Amino acid sequence: MPWQKLSKLPRKDLENIQNQKLREFFKLNFNFHPYYKKLFAENDIDPNSIKTTEDLKKIPFTTKLDLLPTKENPKKFMDFVLQPDEELIKKYFPKYRLLYWALESRKNFKDFLEHEYKPMHMHFTTGRSSMSIPFLYTQRDIETLQDVGLRLMDIFNVKKESIAVNAFPYSPHLAFWLGYNALFAAKIPALHTGGGKIMGTEKIINAIERMKANLVMAIPGYFYHLLRESVEQKKDFSSLTHVIFGGEGVSLGMKNKLKDLLLEINSGNAKLLSTYAFTEGKAAWGECMLENGESTGYHLYPDLEFIELIDPKTGERVNEGEQGEIVYTSLGWNGSVVLRYRTGDICKGIYYEPCPVCGKTVPRLDTKIHRVSEFKEINLTKIKGNLVNLNEFSEILHSFKEIGEWQVELKKKNNDPFEIDEVVVYVALSKKSEKKTDKNELKQHLLKKIIAEMEFTPEIVFKELKELEHMLGLHTELKEKRIVDRRENK
Ligand SMILES: [Zn+2]
Repeated sequence: MPWQKLSKLPRKDLENIQNQKLREFFKLNFNFHPYYKKLFAENDIDPNSIKTTEDLKKIPFTTKLDLLPTKENPKKFMDFVLQPDEELIKKYFPKYRLLYWALESRKNFKDFLEHEYKPMHMHFTTGRSSMSIPFLYTQRDIETLQDVGLRLMDIFNVKKESIAVNAFPYSPHLAFWLGYNALFAAKIPALHTGGGKIMGTEKIINAIERMKANLVMAIPGYFYHLLRESVEQKKDFSSLTHVIFGGEGVSLGMKNKLKDLLLEINSGNAKLLSTYAFTEGKAAWGECMLENGESTGYHLYPDLEFIELIDPKTGERVNEGEQGEIVYTSLGWNGSVVLRYRTGDICKGIYYEPCPVCGKTVPRLDTKIHRVSEFKEINLTKIKGNLVNLNEFSEILHSFKEIGEWQVELKKKNNDPFEIDEVVVYVALSKKSEKKTDKNELKQHLLKKIIAEMEFTPEIVFKELKELEHMLGLHTELKEKRIVDRRENK
């Protein structure tokens, strides 16, 4: 069904589509899935008993650990890829579809199966600490990815006449490849720069100005760096109307900082738009924004996935509108497929009423999402550990206009593993504030705010901007090293 129609259907109809897709999956593709076939047999679950999204509760969760290679099975990721063979096709492929296909298509059946099931593209999970896992796309999946791109352009209201610069780092990750496929599908003329490491920031900045780009796609941390350089070089970005972020979320503090910089290069009206994605979900979801910049949430694709929120402790589904961990079930993809995948991301809520901005009826995820792994136990005294939400640093540090860059380091006192933990906040002043800022005064303000909001006292260390940019790996990493944990027992 076309997105324009689907995205405005009543909730009941959307739920019916999801249930229907689920039943189709268990009739056909389930039989081609090595991992779930085994899991269902081991847990004595009848695949035909999964008729609605409510029945998904019977299926044990899948986690990143299930996807990781083991000694006995170094290609574990292949267990999650649909793999039909001739025998399975004969057994499970519905006769009516075979007949329909034979009447409608002149291509041979083998071509059709290749289009549906043969993996032809892969990219990897980004995992900062754990191993990267490949996720496979078939030709049909790439077409779905392009459709997802068109949906994002629709949600973000990007005009077809736009000119784009894709500044996502060129690497086998979702951000770059979705960016590429979205612009290709939308027939938007684009320069795919490969990011700072491939084309260089200087050339990217010049390209945005000279091409009069309306749309830029980038990782937030890198875009911030790019803007600072552009302001310094007094560039003109007046043609810019949309900036689409990927790779990580953008806090409101960060958005305000970016807005201030954009104002200086004549693009104060550019819309700053976030996406949410994880490799296992194979797509990205985009937000809608109210006039005041507040987000109405990430718009989901109910025909491609089912998303539920669970209590991370009990594994029970939370009540509607309540906070919980995002759990993802694929409904519309071939290649790599996961069911009830625990993302480790905590979301403030999922909403089902029509979006107040665009009127779409698809479910929306609150943009307040943080990784469970960003909550860390820190032992600041010998008595007990504190559970600290490291995301709070982002809001606090970005709210100081004088601060150009920052990094937080967790370490053991005197590098002694038996000692207490220490938190060091490295801070560099922005070029504009370098001369006129009293560092001592700033330090006192900063400490006061951190103590008030996070209830502990870190050490504050000033660094030169260039040095801190290097520490963050701004030019070389897909995600900057904003928080570094150097303790041995994490
Ligand atoms: Zn909307």
